[in-house]
Amino acid sequence: HQLVAELETRNHSRLLVTQNVDRLHQQAGSRSVTDLHGRADEVVCMSCGYRCKRDEVHERCADMNPEFRQYTAGAAPDGDADLEVDFSGFHIADCPCCDGILKPDVVFFGDYVPKERVHSALATLKASDALLVIGSSLMVYSGFRFCRYAKEWGKPMATLNIGRTRADSLVDLKLNAGISETLAVSLNQL
Ligand SMILES: [Zn+2]
Repeated sequence: HQLVAELETRNHSRLLVTQNVDRLHQQAGSRSVTDLHGRADEVVCMSCGYRCKRDEVHERCADMNPEFRQYTAGAAPDGDADLEVDFSGFHIADCPCCDGILKPDVVFFGDYVPKERVHSALATLKASDALLVIGSSLMVYSGFRFCRYAKEWGKPMATLNIGRTRADSLVDLKLNAGISETLAVSLNQL
């Protein structure tokens, strides 16, 4: 993440489009970032668009369900946590503005990425010299679509990923190699 941020700091990267929802790229120093699949640290109302930190909803739920405060569960990389208890009496915090349903601001499997988010990233791609894909098999269409557009617009394209990717037949350069070591060497030579 720090090496990717350095690409931006040294003006080699115009926009980082990530499928991660953990905000670690921002923590590592990347500034120009599109969180394609949203962010797990914020919650939105599905009716009125109210937005707040997920921690606030967590605290409200804890206040409404004090008997649950005793439980803990490890967080999985995707933001899930496995807790095998009876949830039938659990009270869920609703939107404080409209009583609507709150959900983490992430694009769940089967959801669509908001159109304006895609269009904005595509506009930047169109104005860019090339596309570099790092650490993705591109099996999810939301990411693969950028490769299809890059090909259509004649942009040079490279992948840095261990294993095959969905864009293997489209790219000009395929680096089947570890990300950190390859980026570190590349940054040294730039
Ligand atoms: Zn609402």
